[in-house]
Order: sequence, then C-alpha cells, then structure tokens
Amino acid sequence: MPELSFNADPVPATPIGDMKGWRLHIQCERCRRHSVLPLDYMAKQHGTRVRLIDLMLRLRCDGFRGAGKCRGRPRLVTLVKVAIYGKSARKLRQVTVVDTSNPWPRPPLASRSW
Ligand SMILES: [Zn+2]
Repeated sequence: MPELSFNADPVPATPIGDMKGWRLHIQCERCRRHSVLPLDYMAKQHGTRVRLIDLMLRLRCDGFRGAGKCRGRPRLVTLVKVAIYGKSARKLRQVTVVDTSNPWPRPPLASRSW
C-alpha cells in the first residue's frame, strides 16, 4: 500500500470542489447521530468555491428530536478520503478536523494514512 504523504492535507480554506473523493463524517453533540456527507455532493449543492470552513460552520444536525429537528452542532468531524473500486470503498486517509479537545480552526492534529 503506497504512502500518500505527498498529498497535502485539506486546510480550512480548501475549496470543497478541490476535495473529490473526501467525505465528512459528523457526529452530533446533542443526539450523537452519525452522518456522512460526500463533498462531491456538497459541492454540487453549495458550489465548488465554498471553502471547507464555511461549510463546517453551517453544519447542523438533521436528525429528528421530539417534535422538531435536533439542529445540534458537530461534536466530532472527521474527513475521510475513500477510493471506490467497483462496489467497495477503501479508506485512504483520515483527518480529524473538529474535536472537543481540538477545536476548529486549529490545524488538524490527528492525521493518519492507510
Ligand atoms: Zn443531533
């Protein structure tokens, strides 16, 4: 498995249109709902020039909580880059961008390659 360290990690100012193959894994701070947002899809919805930080600041939980929506903020956000091979997806890289102990917008501290 080749080491992908030559790839720069995404930074807060990275336009989401430049992040093909990356997905946001989000955990809600209120209801702990886990959701996955493919950035290719978000770029189609919001535009390719939207920066990662702008998208992150808009994130609100979509889960239902009692009568209305939860609208909680993310407790944990992880960027995961996947490679699709036919019907299977393989995780290539993972970067934690928001953590209660590592609040945005400090640079990611946890970065690992597979
Ligand atoms: Zn929630």
